[in-house]
Amino acid sequence: MAVAEGEEGGKGLVWFVMNGLGMRFLGNTFGRGQNWILILMGALLFGGRAGAAPLRVSSDFEGGSVRNVSVIQESRTVEFMPGGDPVRGWPCWWYFKLEGVSSGEVLTLRLRASDATVPEAGRSLSKPLASSWSMPNQAAYSLDGSTWFQTEKGVRDGKWMTYALAVDASAVWVAWGPPYTPRGASEFVKAVGSEQRGALATELCRSREGRSVPMLKVQQGARSAEKRFGVWVQARQHAWESGSSWVAQGFSEWLLSDRAEAQWLREHAAVFIVPIMDVDNVATGNGGKDAIPHDHNRDWSDAPHWRETIAAQRIVRSLTEEGRMDVFLDLHNPGAGDPTFFYLLNRDMLPEPARGLRDRFIELSYGRISQGQPFIPMSNRPKFTGPDYHPLWRQISANWVSVNANAHTVAVCLETIWNCPSSNTEGYRAVGARLAQSVRDYLVERPVRE
Ligand SMILES: [Zn+2]
Repeated sequence: MAVAEGEEGGKGLVWFVMNGLGMRFLGNTFGRGQNWILILMGALLFGGRAGAAPLRVSSDFEGGSVRNVSVIQESRTVEFMPGGDPVRGWPCWWYFKLEGVSSGEVLTLRLRASDATVPEAGRSLSKPLASSWSMPNQAAYSLDGSTWFQTEKGVRDGKWMTYALAVDASAVWVAWGPPYTPRGASEFVKAVGSEQRGALATELCRSREGRSVPMLKVQQGARSAEKRFGVWVQARQHAWESGSSWVAQGFSEWLLSDRAEAQWLREHAAVFIVPIMDVDNVATGNGGKDAIPHDHNRDWSDAPHWRETIAAQRIVRSLTEEGRMDVFLDLHNPGAGDPTFFYLLNRDMLPEPARGLRDRFIELSYGRISQGQPFIPMSNRPKFTGPDYHPLWRQISANWVSVNANAHTVAVCLETIWNCPSSNTEGYRAVGARLAQSVRDYLVERPVRE
């Protein structure tokens, strides 16, 4: 989003060099015109001290988010808060790059929760967001900006969460969880969507800010469209929940694998996968959840605000008209202490046969997701939404689909755990693969459409 304070121009550089040598006071005593002298002094002094290049923080890239940065060069410590405009959702997402790292050194990241609020009574952010949302037990880091690892467990001390990070590189990216950006979604969809195995890279729509919303459509073989099950998979209606996009990617990878069950699903269904719904907030490093006027997952009404919702509803409606809106999956990440679980519309609000069919789908999915390695903690007890959960409960996507699609439609929200040792790209993709397998297990029991 922005370069950290104190880093712009030569003065910042000198400040850091001096600070690194314990001469913090000098940096403040020189005016702008004398910067070059300080730069020279700094370079000379710095040159004599290997392994202590000034640490620099930046977040001016897709998905980047950080603010209130303070770099303490002596102790190689970065203090920060998540960035994000609270008007555009919960400010719990953070993602930035650190340069000037010396090989083998141990950095200290000190995180405080965002203090940003929306000064409007009744808004969820009229008070700062609870710190647990922004403080994973283990943060994510990458040495190349694409392969993500987890730090050791952080240490909580009052308002601070501290992560130690040993890095053998000159730069490191750090984040709340493994990032998944619109560019990454587009590259993935294009890479797998070259019409191999019936996969087609396409676009759901353009966002309100003009960004492409990548979508993968998979249907293989000669079976005509009306004889195919309709399967809809969407992630990231809440921008900060990056893990859900990795689940969508794992779903896609399994679907396009050479397994016989995957081939069956490709040949008997039309599968639509949208790895990122709220591309604008993901791209700009905003949280998305509870954005104003409301977030994507409170937008499923007769008059949606967001273009992604409008476009998704159009496809869901057309599948419904053809009687083949079979499985609708909305992917999220839950609260910090939650395991993986399904969020569902109250059972008594569902038509038949959807009640029994949904129970069966949940049973199959729980069996798949909770088994195998990596281990994914999952609760076999879904949580339920309805009038007593949220005033806009009708406008939650899976609820809207449950009420507005076919009587046999299974529409569920899957919340995937984000705060455990398997909450990484491998674990999330495993959840996606197991979920895709569950869709196949479920549909193979359904009458083939003729
Ligand atoms: Zn969510």
